[in-house]
Amino acid sequence: MWLKDLRKRVAYLQGLMEGMQLGDTKEGRVLTEVVGVLNDVADTLVELGDNQADLESYVESIDEDLNDLEDEILEGTDETEEYVEVECPECHDTVCFDADILEDDDVIEVTCPNCDTVVFVNDQDFELVEEPDTLVAAPDDDL
Ligand SMILES: [Zn+2]
Repeated sequence: MWLKDLRKRVAYLQGLMEGMQLGDTKEGRVLTEVVGVLNDVADTLVELGDNQADLESYVESIDEDLNDLEDEILEGTDETEEYVEVECPECHDTVCFDADILEDDDVIEVTCPNCDTVVFVNDQDFELVEEPDTLVAAPDDDL
């Protein structure tokens, strides 16, 4: 990787400079400063490169989680068909209730939230357009 190469070259430059024995001359001080700056820049770049690699793998894992979540939500929308809509005979409001009530052994009365009229009792014959699917918990080991 070029970043590690950069560190080596800065170290090489440092070595060359020391070999020149410039001592406490103006040129020596300038070169020392320049090489010092290069060294810091190289360190910072290597650090940034590491951080970016971490960030990339983090984003990848978020992306995977997001896909899983998306799948779950899409599966979930298929299951939202499990409710029944009836129209209230009194106020003509649409009343929704859980389709599970249809299969419940106890007698359950569904009342209109608007006017409290009983809109459905599950001991009566009630024609269902669609048989509700059985709820299956989606196994997902990733989450
Ligand atoms: Zn009503």
